Amino acid sequence: MIVVVQCHIIRNAGAIKPTAADLASAGESSAVAEPTRCLPHSTPLQEIQDMEKGVRIADLFRDEHKYVGKRTLVQGWVRTKRDSKAGISFIELNDGSCMKNLQVIAELDHPDYSELLKKITTGSAIMVEGAVSLSPGKGQSIELSADRIHLYGWADPALYPLQKKRHSFEYLRQIAHLRPRTNTIGAAARVRNRLSFAIHQFFQIHGFHYIHTPIITASDCEGAGETFRVTTLDPAQPAPEGGDPYMSDFFARPAFLTVSGQLQAEIYALALGRVYTFGPTFRAENSNTSRHLAEFWMVEPEMAFFDLEDDLDLAQTFIKNLVGVALNDCQDELEFFARFIEPELTGRLQAAAESAFEIITYTEAIDILIKSKEQFSFPVEWGHDLQAEHERYLTEKVFRKPVGIINFPRSLKPFYMRVNEDEKTVAAMDILVPGTGEIIGGSQREERLETLLEQMRLKGVSAEDYQWYVELREFGSVPHSGFGLGLERLMQFITGIPNIREVIPFPRTPGHVDF
Ligand code: ATP
Ligand code: MN
Repeated sequence: MIVVVQCHIIRNAGAIKPTAADLASAGESSAVAEPTRCLPHSTPLQEIQDMEKGVRIADLFRDEHKYVGKRTLVQGWVRTKRDSKAGISFIELNDGSCMKNLQVIAELDHPDYSELLKKITTGSAIMVEGAVSLSPGKGQSIELSADRIHLYGWADPALYPLQKKRHSFEYLRQIAHLRPRTNTIGAAARVRNRLSFAIHQFFQIHGFHYIHTPIITASDCEGAGETFRVTTLDPAQPAPEGGDPYMSDFFARPAFLTVSGQLQAEIYALALGRVYTFGPTFRAENSNTSRHLAEFWMVEPEMAFFDLEDDLDLAQTFIKNLVGVALNDCQDELEFFARFIEPELTGRLQAAAESAFEIITYTEAIDILIKSKEQFSFPVEWGHDLQAEHERYLTEKVFRKPVGIINFPRSLKPFYMRVNEDEKTVAAMDILVPGTGEIIGGSQREERLETLLEQMRLKGVSAEDYQWYVELREFGSVPHSGFGLGLERLMQFITGIPNIREVIPFPRTPGHVDF
């Protein structure tokens, strides 16, 4: 009896519905504004840095009034330098702390640095000391008048690849060691940082425990054919014929890089209630698309006592919260993306943060696609997987907002998804967003021992290999659910950046593992 009561309480707490604060427009929302206070800003460490190492340009702009009229020291990389006829040189300095450049005013014939100033080029790393003042010029609020300049490292203009012009993303990928110094890649890195932190904040605030699931695993059921093998065997020296080739391998059995931390997260959910993993994930997908990487970062919450509806609620609240954080805390970056990448970006994000997602069943989705009379390259038929073109049609053309699709055919989905009463479908969910397609895949997990064993038989998964997974259904099994969100897909959705290779610092794709 006590157990039942307890479960009931947790179950009710389980459904994390979007709160008014989550849904409120980002600027006014306390739930969204909260994280800002946790950012390193005016901490004691910052004060020490102010005295000794100079000021981050982000802090300078944030606390302008504090710095105007004061001697200040900044350090960064020169974006451009322009000499005026009036004997003044204007340097646009960026230190990566924010989108904005600081305008440095230097005198061409200054007795202390006129020779040095001539040498400074785009890409050079410098330190500048001088007084901060309100800027009379357009485009910036404050500027710094240099009375001391130090050149850390020069960049030869004949060789430095990032001159002041727009470079193609393809070109920038070849210089991934320099591309974070561009506006787009720098901005993407800052948004990615803020979202990663927000993901932890969201789960920690809602009582989830962060679990480190393994990177090396022996379970390969999920990614049949898509797994990277982990081995210390030398391909140049194959094992003698006839014997077990794995006998002399490190783990004495086949091992792989993880394609998902879900199965291990389930173990901890069935002990700690609400957990999440957030880490690198590997899939040897041999497809060169704009939304697949061989190495990507996945966020996987797993919740005991959650059914599919609770899972959907959580996913929706989670995405809205992250969009709100970006709108609130990454304004300069989003403005930049709206200017140069996707003009409608802010409106699209605001709509996603405010309106409820559309939830339809797989069967309804198939009906809509058939009735659409649209020419698709892949067939639309009950029992066939939805392809990217179908997903995008639904979320971009039909509903024009994020869409959750539930209850997929049992035959399409892995063994662990919970079989629905119709016995033809499983309690699965995919969340699709305009521009990107699927960003979340999840399900309620099969908690009934007999049904799980039958599913394993049907799908050819060995119950012996997954004995531990089966045992979770023998000892204290409970309904539970979870999902996986690809961080890079979320980044594409939030920044509007079309290719996934630009939202991760070092993309790994077929044939590409440089840097
Ligand atoms: P897709 O059908 O788009 O290939 P999937 O159905 O194989 O994705 P899941 O196994 O459901 O993906 O993984 C959960 C989430 O992880 C996806 O919704 C997506 O956001 C992300 N994801 C999956 N594969 C990749 C990949 N190769 N690169 C980047 N993100 C990925
Ligand atoms: Mn999926």
